[in-house]
Amino acid sequence: MAECACGCGEPTKKGKYLQGHEQKLRKQLEEKVGGLPLLSSLVKVTGMYAQGQMSLEDLGRLVNRIYQKA
Ligand SMILES: [Zn+2]
Repeated sequence: MAECACGCGEPTKKGKYLQGHEQKLRKQLEEKVGGLPLLSSLVKVTGMYAQGQMSLEDLGRLVNRIYQKA
């Protein structure tokens, strides 16, 4: 039996999540970063770093700036 992918530790009967936990995880991620626009920014800058369009130093600076807005 698989464990729910939201991190709650509960076993799932089928699928990756218990009912409603996928949405719960989305909401938690959004709240951790400080809202959907900031989550979007975080994904954007990490994507740019992964594609070699940004230095690690610039990524660190931007990630700090994103979390300071929260
Ligand atoms: Zn869960």
